[in-house]
Amino acid sequence: MSDIVILGSGMGGLGAAYRLRGEGITPVLYDKNAYYGGHTTSFRYDSGFLFDVGPHISFTKDTRIQELFADSVDQHYETIQINLNNYWRGHWPQHPVQLHMHGLPEDVIVKVISDFVEELKAPERSVNNYADWLLASFGQSFSELFPMQYTRKYHLTTADNLSTDWLGPRIYQASLEEMLRGALSSSAPHVHYITHFRYPTDGGFKSYLNKLVPLESLHLNHELISLDPLGRLLSFSNGTVVHYDELVSSVPLPELIGMIQGVPQDVIDASRRLACSTCVLVNIGVNREDLSDAHMSYFYDEDICFTRLSFPHMLSSRNAPAGMGSIQAEVYFSNKYRPFTGKPEDWIEPVIADLRRCGLLREDDSVVFSAAMLLQHANIIFDLERSAALKMVHGYLDDIGILYCGRYGDWGYLWTDESFMSGENAAQKILDKMQ
Ligand SMILES: Cc1cc2nc3c(=O)[nH]c(=O)nc-3n(C[C@H](O)[C@H](O)[C@H](O)COP(=O)(O)OP(=O)(O)OC[C@H]3O[C@@H](n4cnc5c(N)ncnc54)[C@H](O)[C@@H]3O)c2cc1C
Repeated sequence: MSDIVILGSGMGGLGAAYRLRGEGITPVLYDKNAYYGGHTTSFRYDSGFLFDVGPHISFTKDTRIQELFADSVDQHYETIQINLNNYWRGHWPQHPVQLHMHGLPEDVIVKVISDFVEELKAPERSVNNYADWLLASFGQSFSELFPMQYTRKYHLTTADNLSTDWLGPRIYQASLEEMLRGALSSSAPHVHYITHFRYPTDGGFKSYLNKLVPLESLHLNHELISLDPLGRLLSFSNGTVVHYDELVSSVPLPELIGMIQGVPQDVIDASRRLACSTCVLVNIGVNREDLSDAHMSYFYDEDICFTRLSFPHMLSSRNAPAGMGSIQAEVYFSNKYRPFTGKPEDWIEPVIADLRRCGLLREDDSVVFSAAMLLQHANIIFDLERSAALKMVHGYLDDIGILYCGRYGDWGYLWTDESFMSGENAAQKILDKMQ
């Protein structure tokens, strides 16, 4: 049997392993971390609080993946109706704001609606980037006050530097009637591409991997540092060198390219043009559980350091000690647009201060736990350079016969189910070759 190696034990790597094992083939997996799961792992701290590595919920519509996840936790999962809201200059509109402007200042609503009507009357705008798309969808005032501002915090660049090929169902295009109803009444319907989600009852999101991890063929603490595509050799930082006949990698592309021996300079340059966000996660435990009605809150104001908050104790009561609440804040940086410097812990105090400023933490609340961690790769930024750079990087990997998968191998906006299926697809290519 040939040596089939999978780099990474996140959703992408596990999807590849699952597909191969389904055909009776045992690949060998390597991961640099001391734990498996990549972004889908979870940590329970001594204090009793459990935090995922960024807020993770499963909203896959794919019934096969739903069943795989459910089976992994022996059907012990929560099904929760999602509740999302937004924070904007002291107001808390429901999500999405375009359908829930009720309660915002009158002048803002009048300006937003009149600009939207102007846009509807104007000749159709040509759409060359995300800024054009926003203006065509919402008019000037709404675009500038809400999504363009959020874009600078979440994508770390301006909307006119982003493409539109990541949008999918993510941003709801409201009609004039829907906008008016949402401005006049507080009971406008909730419209979001996620209505319900599932979350493991015990052990955090990581529990979904329970039966998907081939522990017997997984090697942790193996960080790839060099790849020789001619000799088909992988070298790890602990001195291990292994041969591969077939390789599936979920290692982030800029890092993978940097490790390949003999890679052409134009491919290295292209890989450096690939942008992603880096996220500091600040995890907070509080001596009160009624912190919020929403599972997640989006923050638009640029003087609030976090972009999004989530409340892990609301996903499963077992994520926090009884009677306590938990908050996970995301503070964003980017390899290309806002490089992270310093230590993740530097953000704990600013996050707590902003939680107090926006009223989520009250004077009498005690912060009973705090920790911070860095996610070097968080979201792919679909800037205008991405498409051409990615084509060159993927073309090179295709030429040297390295298969790639997952969010950071495909370099796309993949959710967990999509990353898993991306791994399965990469493995299928190996199976196809074997026939
Ligand atoms: C903040 C945030 C929130 C998210 N929320 C959701 C959500 O609610 N629902 C959802 O479905 N999806 C969500 N996602 C997306 C989800 O995390 C990804 O789709 C999925 O986890 C990606 O899996 P992956 O295997 O592609 O990447 P990873 O999980 O990053 O796995 C890659 C693996 O490769 C390993 N690796 C890297 N370099 C090396 C090396 N040199 N040598 C050896 N191993 C290496 C890493 O240690 C890692 O284990 C979210 C993502 C983020 C960042």
